[in-house]
Amino acid sequence: MTSLSSFALALCLCLCLTFVNGNKYDEALSSTETPNYKEYCVIGAGPGGLQMAYFLENAARDYIVFEKGYGAGTFYLKYPIHRLLISINKRNTGKTNKEFNFRHDWNSLVSHDESLQMTKYSEDFFPPADTLVQYLNDFATKLNLKIQYNSTMHDVMKREDKLFQMWDQHDNVYTCKYVIMAT
Ligand SMILES: Cc1cc2nc3c(=O)[nH]c(=O)nc-3n(C[C@H](O)[C@H](O)[C@H](O)COP(=O)(O)OP(=O)(O)OC[C@H]3O[C@@H](n4cnc5c(N)ncnc54)[C@H](O)[C@@H]3O)c2cc1C
Repeated sequence: MTSLSSFALALCLCLCLTFVNGNKYDEALSSTETPNYKEYCVIGAGPGGLQMAYFLENAARDYIVFEKGYGAGTFYLKYPIHRLLISINKRNTGKTNKEFNFRHDWNSLVSHDESLQMTKYSEDFFPPADTLVQYLNDFATKLNLKIQYNSTMHDVMKREDKLFQMWDQHDNVYTCKYVIMAT
């Protein structure tokens, strides 16, 4: 194939894709359908998304967390590369005040469940990152947080009816009133 005909083919493919996607988004923009509707959609089940989910769960809100990984806190499966946290696990502050102690605990999330504290998961000042992954997944499971794993969301858009619409990697459509990006 000459370089000219390769160029023409690439251009044609490009235009076709733009046309197909253009239609898809134009249709979505004016749609009033509400497939897989949730009032709150949180994207990401790292520490931020989990903490958000905890408060939404406690407030009995209609919510879902989408996470592209197979579990919570997947960032810490790879980072820090040297596999020890750089956030300290301060178990002994010399005080008995829970609020004071919690402020010195750099890893735990806020919850009513006292078993869910990183200080109870590791005695190390710099705990293994894998321990935090375990902790975050226990946090999600024990507190019954509503998380849909293996879901990579893309093309979050706001429609004319003010609802948000997005797709997962299988092109399933989701609609929400509020979107919280926790990525
Ligand atoms: C190299 C490095 C080392 C660090 N070490 C530490 C440490 O030891 N201790 C510490 O406290 N902090 C550390 N941090 C900071 C820490 O990464 C962040 O503070 C923390 O992870 C932020 O939490 P988060 O929930 O906002 O985001 P993240 O932890 O990044 O979570 C975002 C989540 O969103 C998911 N996601 C992304 N895109 C999509 C999508 N399109 N659809 C669905 N899901 C999606 C991801 O899979 C991920 O699980 C480190 C940062 C770096 C860069």
